Amino acid sequence: MEREEIIIRLRELKNMNIPKMSYEDIKKDNDNYTEQQIEEINNKLNSFCKLEDQSVCLLCGEQSRFQWGIAHGEASCVCGWEMRAKHYIKDEIGKDKLFCRSGFQYHPDCYSIE
Ligand SMILES: [Zn+2]
Repeated sequence: MEREEIIIRLRELKNMNIPKMSYEDIKKDNDNYTEQQIEEINNKLNSFCKLEDQSVCLLCGEQSRFQWGIAHGEASCVCGWEMRAKHYIKDEIGKDKLFCRSGFQYHPDCYSIE
């Protein structure tokens, strides 16, 4: 996509009021998180879109052509739209605990337009 197309699409996405992810969206019956951990999970998920289908890229509108980035858990579609595929919180003894493996696309609010 050309730069101008990306700016136009990003403006459209920002005006769509796409809901953000929360713990309620990924909650499982056997979860046993503390209130503090749920707050931490919500803070992390707040950067991502709640979508019917995470496999369709918001920017290019096609099936995401997933590629890993350099930073741990970061990925993107080949068009450049970013997502995160692994989400961690600290457990009781401070170790990283994976709470969600799924890839979530970043919310348009995470991007700025010049
Ligand atoms: Zn894409």
